Amino acid sequence: MSRERILELREILRRLSREYYELDSPTVSDQEYDRYMQELIDLENEYPDMADPSSPTQKVGGEVLEGFVKVAHKTRMISLANAFNYEDLLAFDERVRKVVPHATYQVELKMDGLAMSLHYAHGQFKQAVTRGDGSVGEDVTNNVKTIASIPMSIPYQNDLEVRGEVIMPKAVFEKLNEERKENGEEPFANPRNAAAGSIRQLDSSIARKRKLDAYWYFLMDAQALGCHTQSEALSFLDHNGIKTNPLRRICKDIDEAWSFIQEMTERRNDLPYEIDGMVLKVNELDRWEEIGETVKSPKWAIAYKFPAEEVITRLKDIKITVGRTGKITPNAVLEPVRVAGSLVSAATLHNEDMIATKDVRINDFVVIHKAGDIIPEVVRSLPERRDEHSQKYVFPKYCPICHSPLVRYPDEAAHYCINQDCPARVSESIIHFASREAMNIDTLGSKRVELFCEKGIFKSVEDIYSLKDKRDELLKLEGFKEKSVDKLLNAIEASKQNPLEDLVFGLGIRQVGKKAARILAQHFKTMDALMQASKEELTQIRDIGEITAISILDFFALESNRQMIEKLRVAGCRMDSDQIETNESMFTNKTVVLTGSLSLFTRDEARALLERLGANVASSVSKKTDLVIYGENAGSKLEKALQLNVSVMDEATFMEEVNKYESI
Ligand code: NAD
Repeated sequence: MSRERILELREILRRLSREYYELDSPTVSDQEYDRYMQELIDLENEYPDMADPSSPTQKVGGEVLEGFVKVAHKTRMISLANAFNYEDLLAFDERVRKVVPHATYQVELKMDGLAMSLHYAHGQFKQAVTRGDGSVGEDVTNNVKTIASIPMSIPYQNDLEVRGEVIMPKAVFEKLNEERKENGEEPFANPRNAAAGSIRQLDSSIARKRKLDAYWYFLMDAQALGCHTQSEALSFLDHNGIKTNPLRRICKDIDEAWSFIQEMTERRNDLPYEIDGMVLKVNELDRWEEIGETVKSPKWAIAYKFPAEEVITRLKDIKITVGRTGKITPNAVLEPVRVAGSLVSAATLHNEDMIATKDVRINDFVVIHKAGDIIPEVVRSLPERRDEHSQKYVFPKYCPICHSPLVRYPDEAAHYCINQDCPARVSESIIHFASREAMNIDTLGSKRVELFCEKGIFKSVEDIYSLKDKRDELLKLEGFKEKSVDKLLNAIEASKQNPLEDLVFGLGIRQVGKKAARILAQHFKTMDALMQASKEELTQIRDIGEITAISILDFFALESNRQMIEKLRVAGCRMDSDQIETNESMFTNKTVVLTGSLSLFTRDEARALLERLGANVASSVSKKTDLVIYGENAGSKLEKALQLNVSVMDEATFMEEVNKYESI
């Protein structure tokens, strides 16, 4: 049985590692993964004859992704052994003291991001490589260059390698996920995966937008550079402007380390970035070799992992919400409880299958945690604590708002209310229309929209623009005074001048996020042209696939949608895009791709310049590409262009061409 379990655990861990390291999309929490791993370590210790060098207990990280240049690490980048409690730390300390009786510890925060190796040559930043499988990593130099805190030159002039962690600050992560949701994209599970997903992009303009940060904690060949301790090595990095985490402490024994751990456990939710534990390192560098390492981790360091902040509360009810596309989401209504620093009273249950898999029932006690310490989630129910009040949840067959039958499409886990006039869909559509990314009517937030819908003032999107005729009615509502009504009406009036892309996004066409809306507006220039577009015309546009094209056609085929657009037109909403003033040039009507790092422009500047010269700037190379402009360290896109016989141009020639057009 245990032998079978070893094989089963290896399979489970291989799958989870692939999801985490290669797809950047984990399906279980880190704590669950760590539990499986610990079970496997224990079983392999018990059955040494089952040892296997390809077991996940012997492996570091995941496979290297296709599309990146592979780089071998001069010294392997390994992982860290884990400790989950004080006893584990005592055992580690005992092992260390057998070799180094007077060891002290440098205790650091364990940043939760993507491990990275940085190379400098002659004081200049040269290369950044991911950990990969420990021996070979991915060259992500161009993406790492976009991280503002990494110095491009340092005072130290000889070759230097440092290692550390690239992270995404919590605030950036929250904003990114909000945007992804608005654009109909799957949100990232946590900041670690968002950081990893951003760095492992072939297009570095994506990494730039993601505003990543990095902290460095390891100096290669530190002793040769005159450092005697890990703390001196960190100071060496500080002196060279290479960012380290100042929250660190030298501890003379394990109890001092433990009290620092306790202190940081309290403070971790207030930090602007995620940490998933603390790292204890023997401070005396000259003893590291003696203490040694395993294939997977050094024996002179250990990672203490914070326990998941899981709390138990009662699930009082399951409430359904209806999104603007009609998507039905079941939400757990919880007895309010404090989790990871904030009060939680609701958590998503995603869909019917999730409720069944987790066997969650009304009035059950459930375990709650915050995914990535941010999004509240029901982890599991506690059937052993069920009482007579526990009730199986029957997923509704009808929309709780408009009572029309719910539909579940094949291959989709979600149910949909397909009634266009469902009041819940209407109010969500209006909220979306007025949102920042769409028509940006900042005084018309969700609370006000809901209130106006409830009072019958809003029945559809276009009613926003007749609100000015209902001034008296508004003034009768609680909290509405002359001044606030004026502010609201002025913001609505101003929104009419927004360019077509805002309006197209605001319409809430399925599959059409902010980016697709911009592409459509730039291509068609007017709403009429977009409404008349055929499937062929739509699919010929880069980045507009068949599914999006069908969704656009379906949207405009509906008479009610056409009428709504007509009413918006009559109300005075702009139906055309901002005309980018273009100059005829050799780039006019050409599809151009930028690659590599440009030294004279930022990516955005080069893109804007090309657009002004009439080019369509695309992000990937295909047969449809007319020209690839490349900077330093251009990789796979340049290679592909050459393979496909696409014309290429270096940055200097591009500059010369640009200079021919006087107005630039
Ligand atoms: P790890 O995260 O346990 O620890 C090693 C890493 O910590 C180092 O490689 C380094 O990148 C990082 N680190 C951060 N701060 C550091 C510091 N100050 N000093 C030294 N190192 C520091 O090990 P790992 O091999 O990167 O990943 C394994 C872990 O990843 C698992 O324990 C689990 O938590 C998570 N994981 C989760 C899933 C999942 O499905 N949820 C799957 C695979 C792995």
